Amino acid sequence: MTRCRFCGGSPAYVIEHAGMSLCKDCFIKYYEKKVYKTILKHGMLKDADKVAVAVSGGKDSVALLKVLHRMASERFPSISLVAVHINLGIPGYSDRCQAVVEDVCRSLGVNYLIYDLGREEGYTIPDLRSTALGRRICGACGTVKRYLMNKLAYEVEADRLATGHNLDDTVELLLEFYLRGSVEEIIRVKPVAWSNHPKLVTKIKPLIELTERENLYYVMAQGLPILETECPLAKGSRMLRRKKLIDMIEREIPGFKHTFYKSHLKRLLPKLEQAVEEPELAE
Ligand code: SF4
Repeated sequence: MTRCRFCGGSPAYVIEHAGMSLCKDCFIKYYEKKVYKTILKHGMLKDADKVAVAVSGGKDSVALLKVLHRMASERFPSISLVAVHINLGIPGYSDRCQAVVEDVCRSLGVNYLIYDLGREEGYTIPDLRSTALGRRICGACGTVKRYLMNKLAYEVEADRLATGHNLDDTVELLLEFYLRGSVEEIIRVKPVAWSNHPKLVTKIKPLIELTERENLYYVMAQGLPILETECPLAKGSRMLRRKKLIDMIEREIPGFKHTFYKSHLKRLLPKLEQAVEEPELAE
């Protein structure tokens, strides 16, 4: 029987892309070390004082809040955290998300801010259906969330906004943008979006090298609540179909997601950024 790669104990989780099994304690150490290395590698928390953590209630953002809470208490004691959540007003879903966020924040002792879209703005995400002009509602929802998350992070005087984007999200986005040949969008896919605008908060993605499954394992290993339902508006979306396709490729070519992301970051992104910047330099 396969044993834990690090301590030889009973395995609890299989990390397929790395071809290893880990027991619960070794998995937690492995996961936190990966996040810590990502944070250091990209200088995500350099000179930071306050981090706003975008928490939707899904496994990725719950894992993010927990791991940043650990990092802040053990490795970055001068940094404070505040969780920010937007209740999108999606029936049968948003109230459950909010309940998970409140539950996790209370159990960790993290301050949190809930923004109720319907109450504050007078509309909910389902109300945007008529304005989505035939496109999936997720595009409009994403725009609203990006705008409001930045606004909330700015209002709580955070100098970083951390989001739970994981490796699967990143590869899915890259696949879409590369297929479209959308250079402006491709060069925005990176671990940190530094801001030099006073009202735009620098965005960081500490989980960008971890898969959805690793985030789920971390939430389970930490005994944190898991949102059982998926957003009902996501059903049949292109994004979900692309993720399914990427999972199929990963099964055939283990490590595909990591290779794609690393090629983008190390080889293609610098060249594309240079190509986009050059015309401006020539002016
Ligand atoms: Fe919004 Fe789409 Fe996510 Fe639902 S699945 S919360 S509609 S972006």
